[in-house]
Amino acid sequence: MDLGIRGKRALVCASSKGLGRGCAEALAEAGVDLVMNARGAEALEATAAEIREKYGVNVVAVAADVTSAEGQAAVLEAAQGVDILVNNAGGPPPGMWTDWEREDFLSALDANMLTPIAFMKALVPGMIEKGWGRVVNITSQSVKAPIAVLGLSNSARAGLTGYVAGTSRQVAQYGVNINNLLPGSHDTDRIAALDAGAAKNAGISVEEARATRQSTIPAGRDGTISEFGATCAFMCSQHAGFMVGQNILLDGGNVNATL
Ligand code: NAP
Repeated sequence: MDLGIRGKRALVCASSKGLGRGCAEALAEAGVDLVMNARGAEALEATAAEIREKYGVNVVAVAADVTSAEGQAAVLEAAQGVDILVNNAGGPPPGMWTDWEREDFLSALDANMLTPIAFMKALVPGMIEKGWGRVVNITSQSVKAPIAVLGLSNSARAGLTGYVAGTSRQVAQYGVNINNLLPGSHDTDRIAALDAGAAKNAGISVEEARATRQSTIPAGRDGTISEFGATCAFMCSQHAGFMVGQNILLDGGNVNATL
């Protein structure tokens, strides 16, 4: 399917690996030029070079921490005038509700709520001016069904979801569509780290922890970053112009709910 976005420009935050990389690749395949970002310059430059080579699009790589003011300024300088924004950052650590102090919540809010809001505030006005724009926020299935050990993530992402619910309806009239994409378990470094933590806590092997987790997914497996990226690219496409303020769950059926 032609996504109708060839020649547009996108900022994909936190995209040297994992879900962000999947989104960057799928947009590049659709002919979109990219501003890519991650903190680690080496992996970022390597991924950017692979994408340039494979898809022939322009890729600007900005090594910066999107949760810091300086990092946001560096990314925004390169991303002025983008048509598409994919918000993403690392997820907060797991733990118990008794572990978390104010500082832990502030870090989670910075990464998974306030940074995406800052990028939307900076870049959506340019999209409104052009009469076309797409924003996809990578959140989590925990927005629909809490994951108890990820209380920091549950809290921060709920805040972003509330913000998007209202804001998306304020900007839709200008041709700008803001939606959220909710990953369930996907095969990335993040899920490998969570499996390692669960294995340690339960005194079992990482393989056993992974198999136990995957046995609860109706699809019987983790998602791939290319499946995730393809969904993101569709949400950024011409075809998604009537999708406003939605929370699209990609979880292999893991959230056991009718709606
Ligand atoms: P990942 O494989 O660990 O990749 C994270 C990417 O983000 C890397 O490129 C990393 O590069 C970059 N990054 C992390 N923190 C950053 C920061 N502060 N500034 C700029 N770049 C940053 O993680 P993932 O699995 O793709 O997860 C992406 C998001 O989806 C996370 O918020 C995660 O909690 C959420 N999520 C994932 C799953 C899953 O199953 N994978 C499920 C639900 C939700 P550097 O380290 O070099 O910065």
